[in-house]
Amino acid sequence: MRKLELHWQILIGMLLGIVFGFVMTKVPTGKDIVSDWIQPLGAIFVKLLKLIAIPLIIASLVKGISDLKDISKFRNIGLRTIGIYILTTVVAITIGLVLVNMLNPGSGISEETVAKLTETYANDAGVTSKLEEASRQKDSGPLQFLVDMVPDNAINALGNNSAMLQVIFFTIFLGISMLLIGEEKARPLKDFFDSLNDVVLKMVDLIMLTAPYAVFSLLAAVVVSSSDPDLLLALLKYAGVVVGGLFLMIVFYAILVGTITKKNPFWFLQQMSPAQLLAFSTSSSAATLPVTMERVEEHIGVDKEVSSFVLPVGATINMDGTSLYQGVAAVFIAQALGFELTLANQLTIVLTALLASIGSAAVPGAGMVMLVIVLEAIGFPSDKLAIGLALIFAVDRPLDMCRTVVNVTGDATVSMLVAKSVGKLGEPDVKEWDDNYEDV
Ligand code: ASP
Repeated sequence: MRKLELHWQILIGMLLGIVFGFVMTKVPTGKDIVSDWIQPLGAIFVKLLKLIAIPLIIASLVKGISDLKDISKFRNIGLRTIGIYILTTVVAITIGLVLVNMLNPGSGISEETVAKLTETYANDAGVTSKLEEASRQKDSGPLQFLVDMVPDNAINALGNNSAMLQVIFFTIFLGISMLLIGEEKARPLKDFFDSLNDVVLKMVDLIMLTAPYAVFSLLAAVVVSSSDPDLLLALLKYAGVVVGGLFLMIVFYAILVGTITKKNPFWFLQQMSPAQLLAFSTSSSAATLPVTMERVEEHIGVDKEVSSFVLPVGATINMDGTSLYQGVAAVFIAQALGFELTLANQLTIVLTALLASIGSAAVPGAGMVMLVIVLEAIGFPSDKLAIGLALIFAVDRPLDMCRTVVNVTGDATVSMLVAKSVGKLGEPDVKEWDDNYEDV
């Protein structure tokens, strides 16, 4: 019998996880059962994906650069990538700002609800930790991110998952130097990385065998730890604006794919669906990266020369969903607390949300940390920051899940656009999983 396609398996796992989590909220010790016995499976799955992310980036990027044969091609790909990333992010923030100003979700929220949200979350450990982290980030100078990008210890950089840009920096440096010493001398190292690349992609296949069970676990855990349904309902309009904006971004990507690459946008979305479903379940573009790379290279046909650079860089700096959310959330908080925003403030939001999404780590909840920096940039009173975050905290996790889907889809779209523009968008070359698990 033919097996169900992977994305259906994952989707069924997710739905069962939601139902199971919901049932467990009704059972007296249900929450503990989920956190003690169900959640570990999801946690192991996310750790495994993160475990292979760094070897995959290195192997794939070295292969990508050393296949280029000419450094100017790399500069070409690099400049296009950064340019398109900035453009799509500005579009995302603009969509968010237009929607939030038009629909005005903050003005409809009653003082009572504001008081209840403040009481519930302003001193919550989740909000406090985000404020602390934001103040740590803010203390550094404007060029600190450039300094941070350069590792002083290669082994430490490789051992630190949050140092993805350092790994990319080191690998590009290595790849370019390999190009410079010439093909013959670099051959043993290149063969090594080629082989590592194939092995790591096989590891992705193996890990993905457990994906349907893992997403069951991840979603059950999200459901049992979700907030009071009344509070979720009070924030429905705000959440609706964010989700509506995110949906428009997906439409925007589909239009770009259809018009520029001439590929069928529905086909594109279908090929990307396992990565999108994982992004939704894990809320982390970093954890999803191995699957995003696998889908884009093998199922969409983007050449490694492009994808190996565009995707890891994108997972780190291109977060369209996050920046759209930051724009909407900043204006929503201002509206709800009666803080007047001028046009100049809104333009400041565009700029800071752009920088903030570059600075946000590709992990759950990072977008909210950088939101603090956006709020501060528009002169939001610092003694009210905790209240501001408290207003949106209850729905942050579900919105994080949705914005991560957009972050990942945005990276994949840009990789197709860049590939098309340099003649590196080919046909899919599906190697494993989907149909023949037996081979794995
Ligand atoms: N969770 C998001 C990501 O990993 C970042 C964020 O918006 O919090 O892409």
